[in-house]
Amino acid sequence: GIRQNCPLDKDELGSKTWAFLHTMAAYYPDHPNEKQKADMTSFFDTFSKLYPCNICAEDLQERLKYSPPQTGSQEKLSQWLCRIHNEVNKKLGKPEFDCKLVNQRWRDGWLDGSCD
Ligand code: FAD
Repeated sequence: GIRQNCPLDKDELGSKTWAFLHTMAAYYPDHPNEKQKADMTSFFDTFSKLYPCNICAEDLQERLKYSPPQTGSQEKLSQWLCRIHNEVNKKLGKPEFDCKLVNQRWRDGWLDGSCD
């Protein structure tokens, strides 16, 4: 049947949110200033308290404690977020993503031109 314009369930919210988070990391500066670094750290701290899936939010808060956002550059932030996402994938029994491909997936498009 059709299902459109409905409230998001946990998985729909999750995939849309990962798209936003990875895209935000993809467009983070290569050479961020101190304010941009502090803002990104503070974003993830606040985000992890407000994300509207309680189990997900609590899980992320724990991860941020031992793996704080690496805000030094676009590359560092994107790789850090890829690892965090992979930890969640592992917990949920989903396949691991190859983090070497993260900028093709979320910024540049695949080398075979399929996104052009
Ligand atoms: P998703 O995991 O949503 O991934 C979307 C797309 O991102 C994939 O198709 C792939 O192209 C790409 N991708 C996959 N892995 C990576 C990676 N490592 N780096 C870059 N790109 C990647 N669900 C729960 O049941 N329990 C939880 O505790 C939980 N915690 C979450 C915490 C956060 C912060 C978020 C945003 C979501 C969480 N979710 C949780 C939801 C869960 O992660 C998935 O979003 C959901 O299960 C839907 O999965 P999916 O198969 O659509 O792919």
